[in-house]
Amino acid sequence: MDLFEVMVIGGGVAGLCAALQATRAGAKTLLVEKNGLCGGTATIAGINFPGLFDAWGRQIIDGIGWELIMRTLEETGQALPEKFLAPDSNRQHWRHQIRINALLFAAIADEALLDAGVDCRYHTMLATLQQQRKGWTAGLCGKDGLYEVESRIVIDCSGDANATVIAGYETRQPGTTQPGTLSVYVDNYDWEKLDLELIAGNFAAAVARGEVEYCDIGWGKTFNAGFLRAHGSNSNHITGINAADSSGKTRMEIAGRRSIRRLYRFLKSQPGLETLELRMVAGECGVRESRTIVGEETVSAEDYLAGKKYADAICNAFYQIDLHDADEGLVHHTLAPGIVPTVPLRALIPKHSRNFLAAGRILSSDRLANSALRVQAVCMATGQAAGAAAALAACSGCQPGAVPLPELHTLLRRHNAIVP
Ligand SMILES: Cc1cc2nc3c(=O)[nH]c(=O)nc-3n(C[C@H](O)[C@H](O)[C@H](O)COP(=O)(O)OP(=O)(O)OC[C@H]3O[C@@H](n4cnc5c(N)ncnc54)[C@H](O)[C@@H]3O)c2cc1C
Repeated sequence: MDLFEVMVIGGGVAGLCAALQATRAGAKTLLVEKNGLCGGTATIAGINFPGLFDAWGRQIIDGIGWELIMRTLEETGQALPEKFLAPDSNRQHWRHQIRINALLFAAIADEALLDAGVDCRYHTMLATLQQQRKGWTAGLCGKDGLYEVESRIVIDCSGDANATVIAGYETRQPGTTQPGTLSVYVDNYDWEKLDLELIAGNFAAAVARGEVEYCDIGWGKTFNAGFLRAHGSNSNHITGINAADSSGKTRMEIAGRRSIRRLYRFLKSQPGLETLELRMVAGECGVRESRTIVGEETVSAEDYLAGKKYADAICNAFYQIDLHDADEGLVHHTLAPGIVPTVPLRALIPKHSRNFLAAGRILSSDRLANSALRVQAVCMATGQAAGAAAALAACSGCQPGAVPLPELHTLLRRHNAIVP
């Protein structure tokens, strides 16, 4: 049986940074990813604009995620967005995000993982976890069937806290979660020549006939012309989803493709859009919300908005509260000038757990705080911090929560992370 010091479940932006940090800190590390590439939502779901690395005119998140993004920009010869490091970061946050080529990002991630020596297993899922005296025995399912590995520490970066549930720890899931989105890009029409008023009227009539739904193109009860101006986007909303398990995810993917097909048929029937083509449809729906862990500490919206500086803070965070609530619509609360919230290490440790950490959008937080903390820069920073804590715990034999903070901070800083 293969033996590891750290096993990371899920190779999204959080898991990628966790695996790289653990390996670069000297731990023998396994990365388990169900898809054929890394990046998760940032690649396979087409949300290839990581944010937010800056706040109020200064960089607040750096480290391994930032390194991968810079390598991707170098490859394409792109500059950082004009607004990056502009002081008015709570307005037009999307201008601070960094658009990356998803395929190149995934290829650069592959290279970084191989160079570091991570044992990377794509097309593999976690099936079982059995606690042992000094770690875990994990059942993995690959194309070749079921097999077991052992690891001292497990890091759940599955985006849906699947490993946490399999390990038997408590999680939190709202009754109704925020909608999912299937990203799509469209082309081959002249935006300038479109009669948007006519198309919007036709859309309302098609909605009344039951041929399309407003959520096929946006949020709210109006025609979202921005979809056509931007040549597609991540604007459709698939409601009533449960992305935490395979059957829920299956229903969501089918509903997402059905939604895009309805929209495609409608748009093709409109004047000026007869030649419209679907250029890219993401391979998976993006998930805004499913489960979070119930950690030793839970970041509340109150603490988030107040910019609480936790004693065991491991990274900064920045984004507005942005809840796409099926009943209340969009709930937004921007951060007051100068506020930079932080994330505590204890929000990455499930309550009563042993040899276990979690990172990315599943970190322990209430609904509103989570709607802000889920952005990719924070997922990358929490992933890196979990990787560092796991490596230190594995090497010293202590629990992740007992790792001396000065040592953890020193290790993170050595790998270019910004520690609050
Ligand atoms: C529509 C939409 C728009 C968004 N807009 C932005 C934005 O503009 N900027 C921004 O920064 N963020 C944005 N986000 C949020 C952000 O993209 C995600 O919250 C973030 O990427 C989550 O990263 P993660 O690594 O925690 O999880 P994920 O990206 O979900 O990665 C989890 C990985 O684990 C793998 N996995 C899952 N279960 C298993 C298993 N059992 N075994 C093995 N592998 C498994 C998955 O395949 C996946 O690769 C948006 C999200 C959505 C849905």
